[in-house]
Amino acid sequence: MIKIENLTKIYNSRKRKKCKALDNINLVLPDNGLVFILGKSGSGKSTLLNLIAGLDKITSGKITVNGNEVSKFKRKEYYNYRSSNIGFIFQHYYLLEDLTVYQNIKLALDIINQKNKKQIYELIEKVGLKGKEHKLPTELSGGEQQRVAIARALIKNPSLILADEPTGNLDKNTSEQVLKILKEASKKSLIIIVSHNKEEADLYADRIIELHEGKIIEDKERLNVNNKEFKIENNTLFLPYSRDLSNVETQKMLEGLQSNKITNILQQNNGFVDTNTNYFSDKKEELVSHKVKRKTLHKYAKVFLKKRKKNNRYVIIMTTLLFITIAVLTSFLSSSKTSLNIDKNDETVLLHKGELMGFDASFYSTPIYEITQEEQNKINESGYEGQLNYLYTDQLVAGTTTRKLLYNTIGDVSRNHTKLYAEETYGLLNCDEQYLINKFGIDGKLNLLAGELESTPYGIIITDFMADSILYFKKNMYSSYESIIGKYPKVQNINYINAIIDTDYEEKYKSLFNQYHDIKTDEEALSLQKELKDDSLYISFINDCMYKYALSYNINPNYKNDAKTYLKTSYVYLRGVTYYKDDGTMYSLKSSMYNTLRYDSNNSFKLKDNEIVIDYLTYNKIFDTGYNSINYTEFKPHKIILKVHEGEDPNKPVIRELEFNIKKLTNSYTYVNKNIFGKVLEFVQIPFGVMFENNETTHLLMDQIDETKYYDRDIDNENEMAINKMISILIVFFQIFQIAIYVFLFFYLVSYGINNIKKNYYEVGIMSALGFKTKDIGKIMVTNVLISGVYICILSSIISPLVIYLSDKLLVSSFALVLDLHIYNLSIIDSSALLLTKDLSIIVGTTILSALLPMFSLYRLKPIEIINSKDK
Ligand code: ADP
Ligand code: MG
Repeated sequence: MIKIENLTKIYNSRKRKKCKALDNINLVLPDNGLVFILGKSGSGKSTLLNLIAGLDKITSGKITVNGNEVSKFKRKEYYNYRSSNIGFIFQHYYLLEDLTVYQNIKLALDIINQKNKKQIYELIEKVGLKGKEHKLPTELSGGEQQRVAIARALIKNPSLILADEPTGNLDKNTSEQVLKILKEASKKSLIIIVSHNKEEADLYADRIIELHEGKIIEDKERLNVNNKEFKIENNTLFLPYSRDLSNVETQKMLEGLQSNKITNILQQNNGFVDTNTNYFSDKKEELVSHKVKRKTLHKYAKVFLKKRKKNNRYVIIMTTLLFITIAVLTSFLSSSKTSLNIDKNDETVLLHKGELMGFDASFYSTPIYEITQEEQNKINESGYEGQLNYLYTDQLVAGTTTRKLLYNTIGDVSRNHTKLYAEETYGLLNCDEQYLINKFGIDGKLNLLAGELESTPYGIIITDFMADSILYFKKNMYSSYESIIGKYPKVQNINYINAIIDTDYEEKYKSLFNQYHDIKTDEEALSLQKELKDDSLYISFINDCMYKYALSYNINPNYKNDAKTYLKTSYVYLRGVTYYKDDGTMYSLKSSMYNTLRYDSNNSFKLKDNEIVIDYLTYNKIFDTGYNSINYTEFKPHKIILKVHEGEDPNKPVIRELEFNIKKLTNSYTYVNKNIFGKVLEFVQIPFGVMFENNETTHLLMDQIDETKYYDRDIDNENEMAINKMISILIVFFQIFQIAIYVFLFFYLVSYGINNIKKNYYEVGIMSALGFKTKDIGKIMVTNVLISGVYICILSSIISPLVIYLSDKLLVSSFALVLDLHIYNLSIIDSSALLLTKDLSIIVGTTILSALLPMFSLYRLKPIEIINSKDK
């Protein structure tokens, strides 16, 4: 039973003007039967129906349906009421277009968490749609669609069905089918049909209520009489309603009139009389709350997701790209704080350089003196073919390589002169096999006495001269060449002997060795040495040792390139160099043999030939000043002279001299330009590892060094400052950029979520009208976004590290390009696991947040407004 008391509805919308749609309506409707609400358009019919359905709020009055006061329902009760207690049929059917006939009907059961396949099929058959169960609404005619809608309302067996112009869009035949179904249903339930079709009402209604401008102007009910019957009672002829008389009836009427049996004629009407029945029913319906299963929600989420597949794909790609950008920026910004040291007060270096492999050899030798042309001729006459610049006149001295130290290896010739053997190798020479063939080959072939030629980082090749030296000094350990192979010649050394080459040195210097064979004591050896001091064969032998016999060799096919690299980054020990201040006084650095000189390979100091920069600590030592790391820039330029005396003895004549203007002080190392470095190399050091035959080779290699510059972490120079500056500008720019992307991404995703609802706006309205709770509709829509979110997260987390890695390489190489530097092993963007986790949590967080936020917009939506908007 429906009881409506003093019901008034005033629309107060901002868009339209204030409108009293229902004006003090009072109405009682029974538990079953077919009630038509008639009236012109705008008379308030739909408003009344919507209020009964709980789709809209009343202004004043009271609506009670089966014992429940609809007008007092809370939000949740409205949904329970709509989902299980009533069925609603709309003029425009409002089927979900992505669901089949069967699924559309099943939807109504899903909401109340029921299952009844058989009943659905039976009902489909009953409404005459057998065979069309799996068709989509778009494949059906209007009448068929409306029958699906009716089935959707009937499947719940509701006690009340509300139908707003159910036949408004249908032709006469289909309208009839629809009305017949509803008429049948009205035996058990109360069915209220809103219509403006009087004929239909006359034919099917049990009651007709007419509205005009929000008021009931007529309320009639059909009498339970047969008004189509032809009858004569008490001298009265009852003419049947809405049909012509049959011949028999006409005959009877004429007879009756003639015989005065009929004195009154009454035309029977449509059978309706003013309603005056007062219904009373104590029927009371409970409102039951249903919880829709998560599985069901997922099912519908999938349906909507499918619909927006193309759009989703675009969003996934777009968002993933943005997330990756954020990940790269986050990594850059975070790592810049840890591995790039940007402390302005501290002139520390920004970039860390990888360890330079390859050459790192330096060698010093004393004493030296420049050879004259006369001496050169003499040496050449004695059979030595090479061009010599300097002579090593004294004895075999220690040669070292800092990378592969070999000193202390084989006894000490300088202290034990009884034999002509070498205690140490002079240095380690990197070369290829061809080099060895050129040097020692006989008819283009090397004669190996033991071992094999192999290119290994630590395996070395020695000459028979060195092997004989080892056998001589370590008699009790080694007895043959074979026994030396694979041995490590020095205690803490990692080099092992790979092979021994035949040099034929004994044959060439037979007479020299013969002279030594008879020596027994050190005194004898010393006097023999004095005797031989100017002997050209002896001089030739010493020099051959320096350049050939007393070297060890490392096979390195890439030695020329390595040598160039080495030269770029190498430095020389300024041992034996004496500094002269500009006032002429001398400062000997003899004690500090490790003071080093580098060449300004980046040309960052732009040094002329006569210019030098000196580290402030060395400068302090020479000039007895007190500069420190802060005030050294206050230094005033002046002169300094570097001299090398014969035999490193300041009392002996100067053999070399270079005068410099000290351009400025630095906080590390002493630098000259490339030209001067080459000159200094000539007189202070012979880097054996690179020079091979003589100094010319060094110069040649130095000339070959291409213009590629190397970034050296130890140089305080303009490049470093430039990189600093670039990074700090980039950081500001990236920070702004990152925030911008964040903001954009957030709004983008939120609007995607909202759009997702908007694009399913119509569905949201229908589902809500059918009694789906807002929360559940929200879940469906969120699942939709979350599924895209999962894709976004997976894609971003796979691609991000790769892009971070590539961006890092790109950034470093663009620095190198812009600054014209060669930077190696520099990492600006850190891709640590910690940062990636941070990136990932940002991605997940943003996705979830942006999926959830749009859900709240659902709560503002009113189903009736959505449905109305579709009407227009
Ligand atoms: P009917 O269904 O009989 O054609 P309605 O119940 O839809 O009439 O409308 C009754 C009156 O209320 C009309 O004047 C209509 O313009 C007005 N009306 C209906 N819905 C709204 C609304 N949402 N906002 C403002 N006015 C409305
Ligand atoms: Mg209407």
